Amino acid sequence: MVIYKMKTRIAPTPSGFLHVGNAVSFLITYCLAKSENGKLLLRIDDLDRERFRKEYLEDIFYALDWLGIQYDEGPSSLADFDKYWSQHHRLSLYDLALKSALEQGWVYACDCTRKDLMTSGNYPVYNGKCRDLKKSFHEKSAWRWRIKEDTSIHWVDLLNPNTTVNLSEQMGDFVVKQKNGLPSYQLGSYVDDLHFNITHIIRGADLLTSTAAQLYVATHWKSTDFQRIHFGHHPLITDKNGNKLSKSAGSESLKSLRETGKTPLTIIELARNSLGLPDEKIETTAELVQLCLAYKPFLNEKIRSI
Ligand SMILES: [Zn+2]
Repeated sequence: MVIYKMKTRIAPTPSGFLHVGNAVSFLITYCLAKSENGKLLLRIDDLDRERFRKEYLEDIFYALDWLGIQYDEGPSSLADFDKYWSQHHRLSLYDLALKSALEQGWVYACDCTRKDLMTSGNYPVYNGKCRDLKKSFHEKSAWRWRIKEDTSIHWVDLLNPNTTVNLSEQMGDFVVKQKNGLPSYQLGSYVDDLHFNITHIIRGADLLTSTAAQLYVATHWKSTDFQRIHFGHHPLITDKNGNKLSKSAGSESLKSLRETGKTPLTIIELARNSLGLPDEKIETTAELVQLCLAYKPFLNEKIRSI
């Protein structure tokens, strides 16, 4: 039996066609798993059923195959996903966590509408309007996690050692239960990462505040398992105009690249650059992994010196 020291995951959402930015993140995660002899989980985050489409789900499987990424755990097919792996099978786990947060008084009810939030001046940072209003919890309330004033979260990031997020200023009290009754991304992902015993997480820099929020949640539950997780945040891949990529069927979608007969070469090169690896000629994902093994990009200086 192989004993895995580390376990990481890729966690796409079937809410659009995957794009180049998603693929770079997957490749970096795959390299981390391979360079540390770790295990890779495919977790598909399908809480949001409004934007869910079967073709988006299929796209995830096609994309991983095209990229040459082999995962060790997770759904092997659409049917397998529906039967065993959908987040909707774990709703009771999320509810348990939410119930605990409610009992401890860590959350409060918020009835702000989207319009209230968007016109609050601080948007997308929540201005704390409902924090002290003691609104009653009802079926349609959002639940927000109360952040102590001036809370900063610091961690040693795998790709950017000195990372600090001022959670109060950059996010504000965040939603853990949405008005539709489902957990938010912050809560769902937190519960899942613990459930699957994840030890390392690679994500884009757009999720820095999410990581901070989840580490903050972990301090409340005194979850050393979560606090021990290593995080690595890579810079976001942008389009030619410097804009964040979105999950559309546009030219940056993996689907259109596949369908026009392209190989993942440019994406592999983007991943190599994001990892600060030397400009050596590589053509395949396997060669990218070899380069990672040679240069160990995830061992940042701070960790090395410990
Ligand atoms: Zn509110």
